[in-house]
Amino acid sequence: MTSTEAVSTIFVPYGQGRGRGLDAMELGAHGAEVDRLVALGLPVVPGLTVPVSHAASLARPDVAQAAIDLLAQVAGRRPGDPAHPLLIRLLASTSAGGAGVPADLPGLGITAASASALDELVGSGGAVYDVFAAVIRYVGEYGSGIPGDDFAEAEYDVSSHAERVDKFLDLSTAAGSPFPEDPADQLARAAEATLRRWASPRARRQRRGQGLPDDLGFALHVQAIRVGPPQTCGYGVAESRNPATGAFDPIGTFRRGVRRPMDDDRPGEPLDNLPGGRDLLVSALRTLELHMRGAALVEFEIRDAELSLLAARRVERPAPRTAIRLGLDLAEAGVIDDVTAVGSIRASDIETLLHPQLQLTGRETEFARGLPAAAGAAVGRIALSSERAVEWSESGDPVILVAGETSPGDLPGMLAAKAIVTVRGGLAAHAAVVARGLGRPAVCGASALRIDRAGRTVTSAGHSLAEGDLISIDGSTGTIYAGAVHVVPPRPGGDLEALLRHADRVRRLGVRANADNGRDAALAILHGAEGVGLCRTEHQFLGDRLPVVRRYLLATDADEEAAALVDLAAAQKEDFLDLLTATGDRPVTVRLLDAPLHEFLGEEAKEVNPMLGLRGVRLALMRTELYPAQARALFSAWVDLAAAGVRPQLEVMVPLVALAGELASAVASIHRAAAEVEASTGVTVPYIVGTMVETPRAALIADQLAGIAQFLSFGTNDLTQLTYGFSRDDVEAQLLTAYTAQHILPVSPFASLDPDGVGALIRTAITHARRVNPAIKLGICGEHGGDPASIELCERLGLDYVSCSPSRVPGARLAAAHAAVAARVLGSEPISGATE
Ligand code: PEP
Ligand code: MG
Repeated sequence: MTSTEAVSTIFVPYGQGRGRGLDAMELGAHGAEVDRLVALGLPVVPGLTVPVSHAASLARPDVAQAAIDLLAQVAGRRPGDPAHPLLIRLLASTSAGGAGVPADLPGLGITAASASALDELVGSGGAVYDVFAAVIRYVGEYGSGIPGDDFAEAEYDVSSHAERVDKFLDLSTAAGSPFPEDPADQLARAAEATLRRWASPRARRQRRGQGLPDDLGFALHVQAIRVGPPQTCGYGVAESRNPATGAFDPIGTFRRGVRRPMDDDRPGEPLDNLPGGRDLLVSALRTLELHMRGAALVEFEIRDAELSLLAARRVERPAPRTAIRLGLDLAEAGVIDDVTAVGSIRASDIETLLHPQLQLTGRETEFARGLPAAAGAAVGRIALSSERAVEWSESGDPVILVAGETSPGDLPGMLAAKAIVTVRGGLAAHAAVVARGLGRPAVCGASALRIDRAGRTVTSAGHSLAEGDLISIDGSTGTIYAGAVHVVPPRPGGDLEALLRHADRVRRLGVRANADNGRDAALAILHGAEGVGLCRTEHQFLGDRLPVVRRYLLATDADEEAAALVDLAAAQKEDFLDLLTATGDRPVTVRLLDAPLHEFLGEEAKEVNPMLGLRGVRLALMRTELYPAQARALFSAWVDLAAAGVRPQLEVMVPLVALAGELASAVASIHRAAAEVEASTGVTVPYIVGTMVETPRAALIADQLAGIAQFLSFGTNDLTQLTYGFSRDDVEAQLLTAYTAQHILPVSPFASLDPDGVGALIRTAITHARRVNPAIKLGICGEHGGDPASIELCERLGLDYVSCSPSRVPGARLAAAHAAVAARVLGSEPISGATE
């Protein structure tokens, strides 16, 4: 390659790579990208690529000269022309993109003689000198090996932009490598510096660190930057989507003059000020979005009031609001289908739209950490008792209830509080379950906290706060901050609902909610729940109803018990009317009382292991009037509502079954109650009966249970507790945190369903149950019902529905759609009775 003609054939003018059969391997990512932009008919800054295989030759002055000649041809002007100045920008790119490549040089072609006039022309108050100085330093440091410290020293006490340039030129000359005047020599030296920098041991190490081969090649790109007066020239960046709304509404900044070598802290101007207007930029961004199927980000130049693009890329992780709007817009434009639109949003992303968020600045004082038990954020005064929480909130102060752990008696305080913090307890413990049900953010198991009840203080790692001091909590990360952090309210917006309607068309799994009262059920339905998958009737006896259930549980003779039961049933009928009114004609699973006695009786429970004691169906078989009383209350509430034209689909559920006989006996008592209601009202109440599968034995004898029940609902909180032998109230904060840190467990099995153990039990249960009753309805109502990874497992296991707390319903709808798509891709078949 000796003649200029032969030399010029190695260059690929922007937009001609494809025509020559070259791709990113030869053109670098940038060369391939500008090719695409040209193919889309978009205006691109004039330039050329020296492909990877020839990049090193640009360090030769004759090759650099040929590059400049070609550049002058495509740009219509030459460097050095004072009337139509041109700067040369040199940048590098590899096939893997910009990672690891040296910074680009924005202004070759400036000379000591031309700098002053150029600076005046572009009106940028010394910026041309700064660009020039940066080029001299780059070439001196990386091309000629002049230590960077020498440049730092040389500019130590300079008093003007021009003086810095003079000092750098002198330094280069004194070091034996004078900086050249000729643009081609400058380009050759800059290319050489880039090559040396790229080959340095440090750059190789960096590439290895980024997982790139250390002998990776790069292409060089030479661009023509036509500079001119500030009225018509400048540069900027723009993004297609407005992050505040997510809508296609390009935003960006524009700066007049030349691009500066260091961060530019001038405010910049809005796109409306673009010389020549913003229409071409807006339509370029629209074209790019449709082509890239994503939000677009461009760098651009304005020269003589004309737009040209320097670079364009897809925004990889747009903010949730943007991602949702974008998905909907692209689906509407027919560029992507519903499934792709739904797949572009992660279920965890939409949490930030549904719950308040803390606006962190990085200057907050972290007070303690715990488990992220219920999403959302809140600020309030520390209240160390339920009573204090109620008292302060009534006087208008926001409070955060901080407790060792919570019990049913704390419900008034939990309702009064903006958020809940507990020292003990895990993701499936009382505080977490109730907080999620109430939609309150919660941090549980913050085991570093020490509460001094007498001194009314809370201490963490030596830092004490008094009751009444402000704290802020982030229930999505489990972090507690001292003081008040600004809270940004949730703004779900109509776009989210539109996206979720797409998700509803894609998903197979039903999505229900765990709701104990009318308010929760109404919220759940607003979030798109198809019904109630679990009403924990014992939660209806929390707070001021507690004395009723305590009186019943502590009754010492039959009369006292019967009287307490009358009150209990009356209260319960009111609750059911409230719940069923909210659910309307939808299915609603009402679980009969499952009170671990200590939750109601505290010390008086007298059980060493209350979670394994007289709970659920076991208590009902000892107190045989309990379930019939509840069932009568439910059925008569249904009769009253049916008279008004509302016909909820009742599903009556028996908890904590381990033996078929337990279920058979409870079911018989429910049928008796229905017959009694029919006898007294003349109305036959339609209902089905089912059981929780929450003991391992129940899972193993699901065929026997399926002979009695019309539906099974997997209570994966207890099933996880009993399968592992992990106390759901105790092990999470310490043991499971240590286990995950030591990689003994990937994640807490209370947060994400264990596919190997608990999942295997569920699989066995489904297979056995469907063999006996292929039409049996199967769901899950443990906390896992709202977890995306668990929902995917539920899809693979072939369950009919998931049920989760109301605030997790939107995420569950989306996760169920993702799971359906994944299952279709993997071709998995739901389990039928015929397979094992
Ligand atoms: C369960 O055990 O998964 C369940 C839903 O019941 P609870 O959390 O009320 O024990
Ligand atoms: Mg349970």
